[in-house]
Amino acid sequence: MKADLHNHLGSNGANPGFDETIDLVYSKLGNNSAFGIANSDDFRYEKFVGQKGKYERVSLDKGRAVYVPEKKVLVVKCQEVFTKQGHILAISAPYGRNIFSKNARHAIREAKDFDASLSAVHPFYQEGIGNFLIRNENLISQFSSWEGYNGSAEFYLPKVLPRDANKKSIDFYFENILANPDLNIGISSATDGHSVNVVGKCYTELQFDENFMNNNFAEELDKSLRKVKCLNNRCMNSNQIDAGIHAFNMAVKTLQGKR
Ligand SMILES: [Zn+2]
Repeated sequence: MKADLHNHLGSNGANPGFDETIDLVYSKLGNNSAFGIANSDDFRYEKFVGQKGKYERVSLDKGRAVYVPEKKVLVVKCQEVFTKQGHILAISAPYGRNIFSKNARHAIREAKDFDASLSAVHPFYQEGIGNFLIRNENLISQFSSWEGYNGSAEFYLPKVLPRDANKKSIDFYFENILANPDLNIGISSATDGHSVNVVGKCYTELQFDENFMNNNFAEELDKSLRKVKCLNNRCMNSNQIDAGIHAFNMAVKTLQGKR
């Protein structure tokens, strides 16, 4: 199953509509695919799946995901938690449940209480949690997935945004995580898009059979995230333009005092 589990939709969750978004994801990732909608301090996933549309939706495991049988597309609830120590992505918390703490240790605990899986997203990019985890090694084991490649982290600005954040992340995974027999953490690739149009620029191939409908979804997803231990079957394309537009919009909001 091709999974791009890191997308924010457009500004404040803007999207072309439920059916239209599913069609777009299907056109990019095909049958048996998954995409994650990342809440920030909002409920854009919940708003997205609550929109009108014709496609049938099957809610899985307390609403952690919605499955669209007609297209075999899975929409997974995610949340990017902006902790002071760096961003983390909580994957598949129950519908309507968000993590509130901005302290990494507390946020990790909250995620575990929700039986969500954790991904260390763009760990060595701006606001990544990589350096904090190097100083607090015991926390690394709390993660199920390490985002080796983040399409948007390819966007760099001299002296503002670091270059080679992905290379550093991939090297760190193989040298320090995979090499440690005590850890069972997978490596992932995701777009981190700010528009539905860029879904699928990056994805990770998950071994996730269709039984997930009958089983414990959160547990099955967690297992499949951990299983990915190499860079084969990974799609990694730069999402620089979309990331650049997002960075520009954020800078404007900051200048206007809205952020
Ligand atoms: Zn993100």
